[in-house]
Amino acid sequence: MSDNCLHIVPIHEGDYPNASQKAEEILQWFIEKDIVENELSDCTLSSQQGYRFKPAIADLFKDGEIWAYSKSLKTHGLEITSGTTRKVFHPMEGMYLEIHCPHCKNEIDEETAFSWVGNWAKGQNTFQCTHCQNKAHLVRYTIEPEWGFSNIGITLWNAHWDAKPAFINVMEHLFECPVILIQVRI
Ligand SMILES: [Zn+2]
Repeated sequence: MSDNCLHIVPIHEGDYPNASQKAEEILQWFIEKDIVENELSDCTLSSQQGYRFKPAIADLFKDGEIWAYSKSLKTHGLEITSGTTRKVFHPMEGMYLEIHCPHCKNEIDEETAFSWVGNWAKGQNTFQCTHCQNKAHLVRYTIEPEWGFSNIGITLWNAHWDAKPAFINVMEHLFECPVILIQVRI
């Protein structure tokens, strides 16, 4: 089986305030629901450790009892990214990027689109459409496939992608804004 992960990222303009404090709050929700272990361990494929899943992870997904929890999987846990550094949560490596202007609906050429992503990571917030010259926050453009732009986000390693609406609602409640789900196959 190939590895995969699911990013859940809040949709907001600029930087998410008090990201580290919010990350702690979200971790506590997972611990209180008995979904993850309460200590960090090597259960992610990233450079940082995560909180290993417990069987209750299955409850967060449709048909989760069939496949969402596996005792034998090494990579199987919750990773939380937070702080002052911006992170681009992108879909599969090499995935295309289409950005359409929220005003005139025209597509921004791909080279410009990728340069915007790089500049967003360096701190730029608004970008000017190359067609109609209107400016908007990057997250207000229509972006396909789904990419996430934040200084906070969570990643579920080798869980599943088909999250229950109730779980998404909890995440939106905790983040206090809409969230985007980004599916990644490694
Ligand atoms: Zn435009």
